Amino acid sequence: MPTTVRALQGDITQLPMQAIVNAANASLLGGGGVDGAIHRAAGPQLLEECRQLGGCPTGEAKLTRGYRLPAEYVIHTVGPVWHGGGRGEPALLAACYRRSLELAAAQGIRSLAFPNISTGIYGYPLELAAQVAVSTVRAALEELDGLEEVIFCCFSARDLQVYQRLLGEQPGGAPAPPWQAPGD
Ligand code: ADP
Repeated sequence: MPTTVRALQGDITQLPMQAIVNAANASLLGGGGVDGAIHRAAGPQLLEECRQLGGCPTGEAKLTRGYRLPAEYVIHTVGPVWHGGGRGEPALLAACYRRSLELAAAQGIRSLAFPNISTGIYGYPLELAAQVAVSTVRAALEELDGLEEVIFCCFSARDLQVYQRLLGEQPGGAPAPPWQAPGD
């Protein structure tokens, strides 16, 4: 069955998905932004488990339980810091999305939500990051079984608009029919 891929606006810590992805830093010991929100919502046991993992390289992903979150699992991935795009940032960001999906599929996870990795404190331009995210997820899902739903969880309405455009979704509605070109 094809995987449903869509975007929504919300707080990722509240989503009733089987797993959520954390845009972590390499220490995996917590930070600001979505990382801080996930640790606050999950409670101190998440940090305890993260301490056992010994950090995570950029572009890689590691799995923990979700503790007090609605999500059963958290997949911690470390996005690249944006330095202008010439230091391998697109490939590293793509690796975050691909490795997270591979880990989820290997764990038998059926539903997964991503935040907009690297686009906050790490400074990756949202539009460019969203292009990488959407194309990488679509390509990876061609080769992975078991995932029923993948969500791009946008924190702001502006970010959501970018994703809806890239996914070909109408704001608040069903996907546009393929024969209807934008602006027709
Ligand atoms: P990074 O260090 O990878 O840039 P940030 O956490 O600073 O990570 O930002 C990544 C994205 O997560 C940004 O778009 C930010 O607005 C968003 N974000 C922050 N808090 C939440 C949350 N609770 N739920 C979903 N997205 C969030």
